[in-house]
Amino acid sequence: MKILAIANQKGGVGKTTTAVNLAACLADLGQRVLLADLDPQGNATMGAGIEKRTALPTVYQILLNQVSVREARMRSEPGHFDVIPANRELAGAEIDLVNLEQRDLRLKAALAEVADDYDFILMDCPPTLNLLTVNAFASAQSVLIPMQCEYYALEGLTDLVATIKKVKQRLNPAIQIEGLLRVMFDPRSMLAQQVSDQIKQHFGDKVYDTVIPRNVRLAEAPSHGLPVLAYDRQCKGAKAYMDLAAETLRRAGLNVKAIARETA
Ligand code: ADP
Ligand code: MG
Repeated sequence: MKILAIANQKGGVGKTTTAVNLAACLADLGQRVLLADLDPQGNATMGAGIEKRTALPTVYQILLNQVSVREARMRSEPGHFDVIPANRELAGAEIDLVNLEQRDLRLKAALAEVADDYDFILMDCPPTLNLLTVNAFASAQSVLIPMQCEYYALEGLTDLVATIKKVKQRLNPAIQIEGLLRVMFDPRSMLAQQVSDQIKQHFGDKVYDTVIPRNVRLAEAPSHGLPVLAYDRQCKGAKAYMDLAAETLRRAGLNVKAIARETA
């Protein structure tokens, strides 16, 4: 079982799109997947086809130890994976948790109970390095960092890498950077190419081979409450996220072809 946090403290860089679609593509390859939404905006919840306003309990009650993951999880029917939903209520979690014991380790403890139910647990982090993100990093084996190849992209990573280091020292010695994922990529842009080269120089084979192109179908799918596979399986975005799922399995040492045969 592998636990991945999908994080970048910048907003709008493709975290949620990556979380929902990687979850659906891993499920399509026969993996048992749980997606935990840790953003009060609840975009991953909605993108998985779950109505966030009526979703209850959510990850908020899990963090407060009021319910278990088993009680809170819901099914994404179009995505074929389970979801721990989130909604605006989660915005208060930082304050509510601050005086509680083990506030950094609450999610980890809750997820441990369902470890046997899944092959992958993905966590969609909020666009801040707050207590929710720390809970995600404390639970994760590794962090997947989606990034746009823009001018300030690398600069923004400094704080994120520093936070991962702190968590490594204090809470989770095993945590690693899983990989940097180039998203919304436009191969015709000179700047994107240059920044992409810089990222590769800096992070070497931590950079995923898979590149996610800018693709309007990826942006449309969430408004229908669908992962892109269920919305338009043939589009470039769907194919790219299938490639990412296959690469994720390869990196985890799993044989993609064998899995595809089993699930065919
Ligand atoms: P974050 O979770 O980091 O805030 P999102 O995944 O919500 O970012 O993406 C921000 C916006 O960009 C959303 O409107 C989303 O639909 C769109 N988007 C994300 N990835 C792509 C892509 N590869 N091509 C086109 N639009 C994308
Ligand atoms: Mg998001």
